[in-house]
Amino acid sequence: MKNDISHDLFTRAKALMPGGVNSPVRAFKSVGGEPFFAQRAEGAYLIDVDGNRYVDYIGSWGPMIAGHAHPKVLEAVARVMRDGLSFGVPNPLEVTMAETITRLVPSCDMVRMVNSGTEATLSAIRLARGATGRERIVKFEGCYHGHGDSFLVKAGSGMLTLGVPDSPGVPKGLADLTLTLPYNDFEAATQLFDKCGNEIAGLIIEPIVGNANCILPREGYLQHLRALCTKHGTVLIFDEVMTGFRVALGGAQQRYGITPDLSTFGKIIGGGMPVGAYGGRADLMRQIAPSGPIYQAGTLSGNPVAMAAGLATLELIQAEGFHASLERRTHQLCDGLEQAASDAGVPVTTNRSCAMFGLFFTDRKVETYADAIACDTQAFNRFFHGMRTRGVYLAPSAYEAGFLSSAHGDAEIGHTIEAAREAFREARG
Ligand code: PMP
Repeated sequence: MKNDISHDLFTRAKALMPGGVNSPVRAFKSVGGEPFFAQRAEGAYLIDVDGNRYVDYIGSWGPMIAGHAHPKVLEAVARVMRDGLSFGVPNPLEVTMAETITRLVPSCDMVRMVNSGTEATLSAIRLARGATGRERIVKFEGCYHGHGDSFLVKAGSGMLTLGVPDSPGVPKGLADLTLTLPYNDFEAATQLFDKCGNEIAGLIIEPIVGNANCILPREGYLQHLRALCTKHGTVLIFDEVMTGFRVALGGAQQRYGITPDLSTFGKIIGGGMPVGAYGGRADLMRQIAPSGPIYQAGTLSGNPVAMAAGLATLELIQAEGFHASLERRTHQLCDGLEQAASDAGVPVTTNRSCAMFGLFFTDRKVETYADAIACDTQAFNRFFHGMRTRGVYLAPSAYEAGFLSSAHGDAEIGHTIEAAREAFREARG
């Protein structure tokens, strides 16, 4: 495959941008090699500047659930754009967006639009702290909530390990306020809350973990966390930046029947434009400025073009059977991949939830962060490159979930499984 133009661009980019990219995972550090630069995208496909065409299982890391460059989304953007790109005063689409989110996600009485998932989670944590008057927060090993200081904290061993900043630049005093728990461990959560539950402002979780590959909650686990938070007056925050509108129309909270106090969103609600949102119980949301004292603001928040792209996408995913059909496709893909791996004699297992999935190089069930990181990442890396040369683009890291869109049909899934038959053989090393 040709890579000359991408190679030249990456060479220029490395001198101008840290690592040559504007977000780290794009640099292919984990899988090795060099990234390709996108020229355009359509439906299930990404086309790079050298003319290579890939079935894309990232979908811009989640937003493109209706496929790339969907005509309805592009039309909505073009229509709104003609009236101006940003106003700095309220616009009607913000109201429609708030109506849509609160209708689709009943736990959200009110919502505030922001510009990224990171902003949404930062704001939700500030609200939890401001509303409870407490300072500590709890997160889970392997969960990612954007790059806010409070979230860049490594899990230490043992459930009560105080936060150790994962990144230079995070003040220790702030990291100390972040406690970490192992995901899917009932007892660890109980013990932590028994010990200091009344000091914990908020517990934030990816209800389905999508940032340590893809890990599903054990039966009753999210209910257990809900009960602990209720008992101790801790604000339960579901970070649905990834799972929102993807694993069900109403997100993971609908799928598992849990009512969080706050939720954070991003990705799909922007349809590919930079958007985030947080929402939840009215008594909490009313504490946000200007109706309350907890400050949070944004020059471009509720941007009309972003609202138009998001609303058009949300319209598409409300079509009858949209998620059921995606779920069938995901099973078709994952069953096919498991079979192809088994035929090639490679131990592989998958986790799935509607339109997201994880592929693990292991013969064991993956239910915890420890299970996920114990998988054979070298085999994944060989598989990744084998798939890429055959025109299938997976996330360039063994620790990211894969995403399907409604544009992934028999042809794309069939091509993926055929490519995987050969790539699994290469993955054996
Ligand atoms: N939360 C989750 C669950 C995410 O997956 C991400 C990004 N992948 C974020 C928050 C941060 O979103 P953003 O990159 O838009 O800041």
